[in-house]
Amino acid sequence: MRQAAFIYDKQVSQHVVRTDHVMRPTRLQFTYELLEAYGAFKLPNSRLVAPRHATAEELRIFHTPRYVEAVQRFSRGEGLEEQGEYNFADDGDNPVYPGMYEAACLAVGGTLVAVDEVRSGRARVAFNVAGGYHHAASEYASGFCIFNDIAVAVHHLVKQGLRVAYIDIDAHHGDGLQDAFYGSDRVLKISLHETGRYLFPGTGQVEEIGTGPGLGYSVNLPLAPHTTDDTYLWAFDQVVPELIECFKPDLLVTQLGTDTHYKDPLTHLCLTAQGYAEVVKRLAALDRPWVAVGGGGYEMSVVPRTWTLAYGAMLGVDWPDEIPHEYWEKYGISLLRDAEGPNIDPAVSAAARRTAEDSVAHLKRLVFPFHRV
Ligand SMILES: [Zn+2]
Repeated sequence: MRQAAFIYDKQVSQHVVRTDHVMRPTRLQFTYELLEAYGAFKLPNSRLVAPRHATAEELRIFHTPRYVEAVQRFSRGEGLEEQGEYNFADDGDNPVYPGMYEAACLAVGGTLVAVDEVRSGRARVAFNVAGGYHHAASEYASGFCIFNDIAVAVHHLVKQGLRVAYIDIDAHHGDGLQDAFYGSDRVLKISLHETGRYLFPGTGQVEEIGTGPGLGYSVNLPLAPHTTDDTYLWAFDQVVPELIECFKPDLLVTQLGTDTHYKDPLTHLCLTAQGYAEVVKRLAALDRPWVAVGGGGYEMSVVPRTWTLAYGAMLGVDWPDEIPHEYWEKYGISLLRDAEGPNIDPAVSAAARRTAEDSVAHLKRLVFPFHRV
């Protein structure tokens, strides 16, 4: 039985990015409440563990001192005339808000706690649902991300001499992580995402395969809008298990953004909740020490369900489909899995399949030779 830890405390869901901002931290609270309603924290192989704030020193393993200090100042409402230098803007993706330094440090600290849980052997898998800020760069904010909890954690792991496989299933390309380790063969970076032709951040083409010693260690699998469960899972199976088998990582780090769902308002991939759960089951089947973090997901009727399914996959539990009554009464969600899927024209679906086949074939030609697959 796999020992699992869920990293959460209600303070991770208390801040407001901006009242009309699509990133709503309450989605974390709704996820926690749904898991609790299912009794997830009473299972013998499950523990609820509180996050902590990362220190400025811990952040500086990836972020520049200048950026860390700027975020501290902006968080106190000072020096705001410089915010544009770091890609903050009141009406943009990355608004400054009071207490943002502490909120961002808690997201990073939660991922470091997850790392500790797994490294100590207390858990085989630890899930920091409040992490997953894969777009943040060393010196600027990007795509709702202030500090890159994943890059900070992976730097700490690499410093300990470990080989890390990073798998990113968010609908958006994991550009911040890729950039942070683009020249490294210690970190295998795999991202499945909607093609940057239509979606932020615009990167993540198959040809981005790394540089120097890192050549072949950035693996990008762009998918077309309207890609459904069957095509997504097929593409995943073609690429991920073999690369992981060859790379033999000491540790798996996965970004589990759930904005691939067909109801997500920001993206155009068309997975169902159960399709997403299948992907997480495949990650579990890779059977490595595993640090999991959250990520995107902007449809409030979807995110608690998909992350509940994800934690179930970590625990090895298939939750019953009927959502416990008290949760249903409070939030009006009655079924855990989707009763209906997306309605997609078969010609569009077939075109999405061809795009996936092209991406996979191209990627196998460019990347697999580096791994002697
Ligand atoms: Zn995303």
